[in-house]
Amino acid sequence: MSEKTIFQKIIDREIPAPLVYEDDLVAAFNDIQPQAPIHVLIVPKKLIPRVGEAHPEDQATLGALLLAAGKIADKLGIKDRSQGFRLVINHGQNAGESVPHLHVHLLAGRPLDWPPG
Ligand code: AMP
Repeated sequence: MSEKTIFQKIIDREIPAPLVYEDDLVAAFNDIQPQAPIHVLIVPKKLIPRVGEAHPEDQATLGALLLAAGKIADKLGIKDRSQGFRLVINHGQNAGESVPHLHVHLLAGRPLDWPPG
């Protein structure tokens, strides 16, 4: 069996990281190198390496990631349109993916440039 990803170790509570949110399918915690005042990573408990490698049977898990984003935004007080947030998924080298365990970045707390770098 291949080595657990760093995110799997956090989910399995082998590495301490306070969870911002958790349900049956996903967990969320703060990014260790925040790129904005709010930078949360939302991660499926089941290992899906990257979004383009998800399968039809992962549909509920993929949906749970976005539903969790809305709940976390609500909890953090950034769901109102006058605040707002951005969700980012990096797939592969050109996108800057560094952890091979699907995760959604939730960024907020400052104006975010568009187009992104
Ligand atoms: P990506 O580049 O899209 O694969 O994003 C990986 C993210 O994981 C980066 O923003 C890292 O700062 C973050 N990260 C790496 N290790 C940890 C950790 N132990 N706890 C929290 N975030 C982490």
